Amino acid sequence: TYVVNEKCIKCKYTDCVEVCPVDCFYEGENMLVIHPDECIDCGVCEPECPADAIKPDTEPGIERWLEVNREFADKW
Ligand code: SF4
Repeated sequence: TYVVNEKCIKCKYTDCVEVCPVDCFYEGENMLVIHPDECIDCGVCEPECPADAIKPDTEPGIERWLEVNREFADKW
């Protein structure tokens, strides 16, 4: 899965949402999140993010953001 990190906080762009083929972006408290069970790992959103806030879950240190993504995506 891909994961949204802290660089997304208060970002106003939604380019990622528009390109995602499975619509797995959701609104978090002050950022967008990706639902880890719905993301198909296509990677299309990563280069579209102007804030460089989308990373694969293999990125070092991303674990806590993966938890945040899951927690907020599960509320929907
Ligand atoms: Fe959507 Fe693909 Fe990005 Fe996953 S990697 S959030 S499926 S655009």
